[in-house]
Amino acid sequence: MTRTLPRTRIAVLGSTNMDLVAYVPRAPGRGETVTGREFRTVPGGKGANQAVAAARAGAEVSMIGAVGSDDFGARLRAALAESGVDTGLLRTVDGPSGTAHIVVDDDGANAIVVVPGANASVTGLTPEDEARIAASDALLLQLELPLDAVAAGAEAARRHGVRTILTPSPVQPLPHDLLALVDLLVPNEHEASALTGVADPRAAVEELLRDVPEVVVTLGAAGSLYAARGARPVAVPARRVRAVDTTAAGDTFTGALAVALGEGRPVPDALAWASAAASLSVRRAGASSSMPYRSEIDAL
Ligand code: ADP
Repeated sequence: MTRTLPRTRIAVLGSTNMDLVAYVPRAPGRGETVTGREFRTVPGGKGANQAVAAARAGAEVSMIGAVGSDDFGARLRAALAESGVDTGLLRTVDGPSGTAHIVVDDDGANAIVVVPGANASVTGLTPEDEARIAASDALLLQLELPLDAVAAGAEAARRHGVRTILTPSPVQPLPHDLLALVDLLVPNEHEASALTGVADPRAAVEELLRDVPEVVVTLGAAGSLYAARGARPVAVPARRVRAVDTTAAGDTFTGALAVALGEGRPVPDALAWASAAASLSVRRAGASSSMPYRSEIDAL
């Protein structure tokens, strides 16, 4: 396929974790030991997942963050590179990589402990990081790095007129100054309600629009809701698929959305494309490994 559009350039400032996943009949209670059926190590971290999603969706992506000097660090870097993500600005720091310790039970419910490891060392930007952000069409942020780094990224993006897209996960109270630097906020429905104290997604969106000009609340199988200040909210249906594994559906959605918006597509088209990408990822098991490539998204 020949592509006439220049590739969207995306910088991701975020976490890179190794997911250590144990599959168990039921999760252990306090002080209890249960025998698991299977164990897998899977490259993850919300930052890295969004980077992979955007790269597979066709963007030129730079990952800014840190991995540890352990074996996981080398694997995490290699996994990003394999999906075409530039890891030149991903630092290797002494000590362990970030890890997520995940227990998945037979109902598919999970319980997760994240140990930040190397991610905790990212507290600000280097001049090279800032230059890369300045040369990008969008900066993707999440909340798995120290908040100082997230704020530094958002400030740099604003200085250079780069669109900032923030996924508020893991959800935590956010300073108004930080939200004021965000162009597009992409919470899922739980995060939207935790941020606002409002359960109804439409009402939560109204509340969030006080701080940010555009919001997309993702609603799982119910799709998503887009709203911009001064305009009526638009509901975007999800595609009907047999969901096998919804891990990282939100990251796939956000990565693809950033690519489509960077290509200048109208918002409704960009949302439909992101929703197609996310539906492909939930049809397959795995997190970043299940993320679709551009040709597959276009084919839907
Ligand atoms: P997160 O993974 O952050 O919790 P969601 O579960 O809201 O995010 O999913 C993000 C997007 O992925 C949804 O807006 C939708 O487009 C798609 N999606 C999620 N679950 C399903 C599903 N079961 N069927 C089809 N699409 C889905």
